[in-house]
Amino acid sequence: MKYISTRGNHENCTASQAIEKGICSDRGLFVPKKFPHVSLEEIEKMKEMNYKEVALNILKRYLTDYSEEELKECIGVYDETFSHPEKTPVVKLKDGVYVLELWHGPTLAFKDMALQIMPRLFTQARKKNNAEKESLILVATSGDTGKAALEGFKDLKGVRVVVFYPAHGVSDVQRLQMLTSEGENVEVVGVVGNFDDCQTAVKNIFLDEELNLSLDKFKLSSANSINLGRLLPQIIYYFKAYLQLLRDNEITLGETIDFSVPTGNFGDILAGYYAKQMGLPVGKLICASNKNNVLYDFLKTGIYNKQRDFFKTMSPSMDILVSSNLERLIYHILEDGKVLNRLYNEFEETGILELDTASLKKIQETIAADYSTEDECLETIYDTFDKNNYMIDPHTAVAMNGGLKNKSRKTVVLSTANIYKFSSSILKAFDLEKNNEFENIEALEKLSKEDVPLNIKKLKSLKILHTKVVEKDKLGDVLRSL
Ligand SMILES: *Cc1c(COP(=O)(O)O)cnc(C)c1O
Repeated sequence: MKYISTRGNHENCTASQAIEKGICSDRGLFVPKKFPHVSLEEIEKMKEMNYKEVALNILKRYLTDYSEEELKECIGVYDETFSHPEKTPVVKLKDGVYVLELWHGPTLAFKDMALQIMPRLFTQARKKNNAEKESLILVATSGDTGKAALEGFKDLKGVRVVVFYPAHGVSDVQRLQMLTSEGENVEVVGVVGNFDDCQTAVKNIFLDEELNLSLDKFKLSSANSINLGRLLPQIIYYFKAYLQLLRDNEITLGETIDFSVPTGNFGDILAGYYAKQMGLPVGKLICASNKNNVLYDFLKTGIYNKQRDFFKTMSPSMDILVSSNLERLIYHILEDGKVLNRLYNEFEETGILELDTASLKKIQETIAADYSTEDECLETIYDTFDKNNYMIDPHTAVAMNGGLKNKSRKTVVLSTANIYKFSSSILKAFDLEKNNEFENIEALEKLSKEDVPLNIKKLKSLKILHTKVVEKDKLGDVLRSL
């Protein structure tokens, strides 16, 4: 399997090369040259497989320069650090709605699904490609990627990690999780600005020749969802969810189901698109946004315009105006790096991207769009608990609302965060908000009767280890001081 650049000006790479590089030198993103196919007969045979077996079955089709032994070693992480035996259990609610819980990893958000295995894939990639220089992994986070990357790469040999987060744009628990991170090789830096400022600053570091010279002892890479090592492991749980419904006799083989996905950087939903291209019977993927509804507008009109107000919402991990992985979807629709290059050059200059009508129609055949206001989000949290006695976090609520509004067949709602990462917002839906986050956590436990995970309880007693906050044009200085 070879990987090519969405912008068409990069030589073919192996999977391990693409994972080690993170981003193409022509500014494009790595995509597979073609999609491997999984037949219905194969899906039938996979029915009884556990998570690790499904993972191996999917990943070996993409990571063809990794041996089966190497892949198994990487996949082993799901047994070591995930608390639920199913890893990603599916919970049945009323009226043909199912919830796919993706937050049973160590940092309690769906980012662990990829960021637990990716450091292992990355280490193998360094070995395969005889990497000599230390890798410097730059991470821009809207809240959950940061902690997941810190946890995944902690104390890994040959790798340093620097996380940039919006200093005033994450939840209390998200901030505490990052600032208490241990590990000799990790650094956490607050940025005065929003996630897009962080993401743009990190992208500019990759393009800053002078800075790159002064960082010559490192090889730069990225752990954001532009890295192929993030995207591919996310395909696994779409298959696993389908297989679980099949095993539980909720659906029949070949029956089409929809997935509703709370979307920010478009990485999670793109993995669903890959699963569908591989042959999984997926009808629609519902792209559910919060009040930052730039994707909604794009999916309805074909015009992506990032020149708009940025809103801080109660689902901060989706507060994003530039969804990086959309580039991959558009590439797969156009299948033409030259045209995509032109579109994105224009986008980088003007902040506006305009897709032709025929291509937009093709996207709309698979991807539906919806968005939730803050009020709708609160109502959905309340209603879901009221009706099902099942508590969801604000990100999941956005997907739940989008899923319910667009429901035409059995629908799986992707649940991306544990409720205790966002206690205060959830309590707002019940008018039960308290004065500080640890009181909120207690109140939410009383209300939901869900156990507080140990990694949340522990936060209270951990020491703050990272206090640096910088202006958004000063990220380079942080790196020079390494
Ligand atoms: C990152 C994240 C999302 C959005 O996922 P994308 O892949 O960026 O679209 C949704 N919910 C939570 C809790 C997240 O951490």
